[in-house]
Amino acid sequence: MQNTVTPTHCPYCALQCGMNLTRTPDGSSVEVGERADFPVNRGALCGKGRTAPAVLSSRVRLTSPLVRDAGGALVPASWEEALGRVAEGLGRARSEFGADAVGVFGGGGLTNEKAYSLGKFARVVLGTSQIDYNGRFCMSSAAAAGNAAFGLDRGLPFPLEDIPRTGCVILVGSNPAETMPPSLRYFTELRENGGTLIVVDPRRTKTAEHADLHLAPRPGTDLALALGLLHLVVAEGRTDEAYVRERTAGWEETRAAAMAHWPEYVERITGVPVPRLREAVRLFCEPEAAMVLTARGPEQQAKGTDTVGAWINLCLATGRAGRPLSGYGCLTGQGNGQGGREHGQKADQLPGYRKLTDPAARAHVAEVWGVDPDSLPGPGRSAYELLDALGTDIRSLLLMGSNPVVSAPRAAHVEERIRALDFLAVCDVVLSETAALADVVLPVTQWAEETGTTTNLEGRVLLRRRAITPPEGVRSDLEVLHELAARLGGGRNLEKGFPTDPEEVFEELRRASAGGPADYSGITYRRLAEENGVFWPCPASGGPEGGVHPGTPRLFHDRFATGDGRARFVPVSHRPVAEEPDEEYPLLLTTGRVVAQYQSGAQTRRVDELNAAAPGPFVELHPRLAERLGAAEGEPVAVVSRRGRAVAPARITTAIRPDTVFMPFHWAGEGRANTLTNPALDPTSRMPEFKACAVRVEAVGAG
Ligand code: SF4
Repeated sequence: MQNTVTPTHCPYCALQCGMNLTRTPDGSSVEVGERADFPVNRGALCGKGRTAPAVLSSRVRLTSPLVRDAGGALVPASWEEALGRVAEGLGRARSEFGADAVGVFGGGGLTNEKAYSLGKFARVVLGTSQIDYNGRFCMSSAAAAGNAAFGLDRGLPFPLEDIPRTGCVILVGSNPAETMPPSLRYFTELRENGGTLIVVDPRRTKTAEHADLHLAPRPGTDLALALGLLHLVVAEGRTDEAYVRERTAGWEETRAAAMAHWPEYVERITGVPVPRLREAVRLFCEPEAAMVLTARGPEQQAKGTDTVGAWINLCLATGRAGRPLSGYGCLTGQGNGQGGREHGQKADQLPGYRKLTDPAARAHVAEVWGVDPDSLPGPGRSAYELLDALGTDIRSLLLMGSNPVVSAPRAAHVEERIRALDFLAVCDVVLSETAALADVVLPVTQWAEETGTTTNLEGRVLLRRRAITPPEGVRSDLEVLHELAARLGGGRNLEKGFPTDPEEVFEELRRASAGGPADYSGITYRRLAEENGVFWPCPASGGPEGGVHPGTPRLFHDRFATGDGRARFVPVSHRPVAEEPDEEYPLLLTTGRVVAQYQSGAQTRRVDELNAAAPGPFVELHPRLAERLGAAEGEPVAVVSRRGRAVAPARITTAIRPDTVFMPFHWAGEGRANTLTNPALDPTSRMPEFKACAVRVEAVGAG
């Protein structure tokens, strides 16, 4: 008997690196190998991807449902008992308080099939409007700004392979050297080809070390920075007048807003000297092609939509969007952050990236689902608002693929709200901090144990294949939804609408997405296997000479997805962070990731090699600040905000501004960074302000 090799994809970030999984004949072990045929990573993997199999066989892997006993302990139970309890817990809230008393919280790591089924389950089986997911905390501001400007949001409207061939990239609030290391080569190749890289980040990150120019604004001021650059574009006569005239609308108002942001004023707000602003404009405008790429830095702000909009305005004024090797893109973070927002687990959306409030969209999806359009609920609360309503308006919650006790803003409050629920059911592979609070925990299959599709940050739909048999005792999320539909359907056989075969779900998803902005109707599992991924939109027909549609790697070259085909400028102005520093809280905290951990750490904190590389949280401080506080390298410091206190060792570095401190957010307990963060919400995207809140820092234990 020979080893079996299965080509598949990493379970973690939005790069969705290709990898080969090799299984021994007896199935006792599985190893990650290089898969050079997948163009995105060309065989390269980061430590998280290389060690991903460790979670499959982790000693803390859940292999039996757990239910809370009379004494309050989580104890093993049969699937029958556990599913019965979940149906009872969700059903009781529904019958006592109404359908909207039941909440559903999903995740950006769920496959397209799971995200689709979860959204359908909430709306058809539970009848609740109260569904959202942790992707709201990831890219929702970029999605809102992209939709407003271009009429369509797809993270990158071009493939990553375009990056090395452009002339200049401004990377705003993005640190791919740590978040998705194999992607760094696109930026180093850009420079090898003579292009330039500008990094905008309050910290001199590992990515910034590769930059030709590093701009380090105060956290939360990159909206003003973009306006200052646009001011200089206009003042220096670098506007692409013909492009603005022919391909955009709304320039005059945006121009006026930018002209009110004088470079000297912007320098005072951001701390970035005027000569550096001028240098950035020169580097960005001189080449024929250029890009702006944003990530969580500008997006995770209470003005995230406007901040991203300001960077899009810069692209439009200089004629960059919708042209070869040019444009604006968002580097999505979670593994299926892109697909997760397209198939209906977001509070305001239906499959195909359709609006829940659009009567035609409701009618189309209702027909596919075999229900009355009027029976579909309207939009519900956004992720933080949903979590904030737990234990009051929302009495029972079904949570799948998320760990908000660690990853939500104002996390101690969120934890308190979760504890106040009448009933919580969690589907997970390990006992995460959130699962530990549940009444029922359902152990589910993982990436390599199940087949499904994801959509990476380029909009490339991919097939993740099952490579190994799951352990006894676990079931897939799709099986869980099927079983719950049977129990909660009131004899209506609703489980028939929830197949457990992922390909069957995908076939329905294709029909539900047909004609929508994210049209998957021309994509099949077979094509995904044969073509190594297909870019949406991909309608069922419309290929060359009536053949199959090839998919759409590059968007907007002919027209934007607006009614008249023109992109929209959206006028924006500087405004301060929601919580400015003051005497009591004189510093700004910003949060982010480290290379060896992923998101809330629920999986990666279970991997010895990753824990050895990144064993715990830390607080980055500038040496001048450390000296003033009497803080020493490696000694604990307390970071205090209006929401709580976190303690972690000091890491003293000149890579951070003296007015700013940084904490990674992967850990629970006393070093939980999100204890501190501010849930002030963006009015459009409902994104919380993770990236800037007022804090003070105190040395602890010194005396
Ligand atoms: Fe996985 Fe992302 Fe690392 Fe690639 S970069 S191996 S997708 S975690």
